[in-house]
Amino acid sequence: MKERILTGDRITGKLHLGHYVGSLKNRVELQNKYETFLILADVQALTTHFEKPESIKQNLRNVALDYLSAGINPDSATIFIQSLIPEIAELTTYFSMFVTVNSLRHNPTIKAEATERGFHDMYYGFLGYPVSQAADITFCKATLVPVGEDQVPHIEQTRKIVRRFNQLYKPVLVEPKPLVGDVPRLVGLDGNNKMSKSLGNTINLDSTQEEVSEKLKKATTDPARIHKTDIGHPEICPVYAYHQAFRKEGSDEIYESCKKGQIGCMECKRKISQSINHLLEPMRERRRMYQNDSKKVDEILMSGTEKACLVAKETMLEIRDAMSMNYF
Ligand code: SF4
Repeated sequence: MKERILTGDRITGKLHLGHYVGSLKNRVELQNKYETFLILADVQALTTHFEKPESIKQNLRNVALDYLSAGINPDSATIFIQSLIPEIAELTTYFSMFVTVNSLRHNPTIKAEATERGFHDMYYGFLGYPVSQAADITFCKATLVPVGEDQVPHIEQTRKIVRRFNQLYKPVLVEPKPLVGDVPRLVGLDGNNKMSKSLGNTINLDSTQEEVSEKLKKATTDPARIHKTDIGHPEICPVYAYHQAFRKEGSDEIYESCKKGQIGCMECKRKISQSINHLLEPMRERRRMYQNDSKKVDEILMSGTEKACLVAKETMLEIRDAMSMNYF
C-alpha cells in the first residue's frame, strides 16, 4: 500500500514557471511513489475571487490542462473538483465548531496573506481557509501533504484539528505530516518579487516560444550593466535565477561571464529562453493533444471526482458515527 498525499491549487489563474518549480515538478515525481489526490480547489478560490466566480470556471479547465501537460498522469493521480465533494463542506462545518477564531487569526500564513491583500477586516471564508484545507486533507485520509515552508503552519493547524477531533469523538482521522520540499521560490520577471500572477511578472506554462522570448527580453536585469563589458551582479538578476533553475549545468559559466563582463544580457537571455522553451515543448505537445480532445479532459475530471466522492462518503460514515450523528 502506497501512502496517500493530498496536493493541489486554488483555482485563481493559469499556472506559471513559479508553480512548476515550486510544486508541479515535484508532484509529477511524487505521483509514482505515492497515491496522489490532486485537488482543484475552486471553493477556496472563492475566498479571494467571490466577486468573479465565472473566472474560476475557465481557470479550472486551464489548470487541469496545466497539470496534464506538465506530466500528471490521470492513471496515477486522482484529479478532482473540490466543490463537487459536498462532504468536504460538511467536514469544514464540523471542524469549525471547535476551531477558535484566535487560533486562525494567529496563523502566520493567514496573517501574511491578509497583509499582502490589504485585508483589515477579514472575510469569514478567508479566515477559515485553513479549516477548509484541513477538510481537504482529512476527507481522503492523506498521510502526507507536499508543501512549501510557508504552508507548514496550515498543516500544523490541520494536525491540531485532527488531534482535537480524535480526542473529542473517536480516533478515526489520520494526522498528516508536511512533506516539505527544499525548493526556493522563483523570482518574477521584475526581479523584485516572487513570480505571481497578481503581479504580472510570470511566464505561464502555456506560453508559446515567442511569448517566452518576448517576456525574457523585457525582464529586469542588473541595472549596473549598460555595456557588455560592464561588471555584473548576477545574484540580483532574475535571469540568472532562471539559469540556476532551468539551466543548472551552464549557470556557473553565466555567473562568471556576467561578473567579468564577458557576456551581454541579450545573449544571456537568449540562452535561457532556449532552455525554458526546451522544457515547455513537451508540455505544449501534451496540451495540444488534450485541447483537441476536451471530452477526454472531462472524463478525467469526472472519474477523478467520482473516485474522491466514494472515499469521502466512506470517511463521512466514520465521522458521523464518531459524532453520534448516525440517526437511522
Ligand atoms: S548577463 Fe545575464 S545574469 Fe548578468 S545581468 Fe545580464 S541577464 Fe543578468
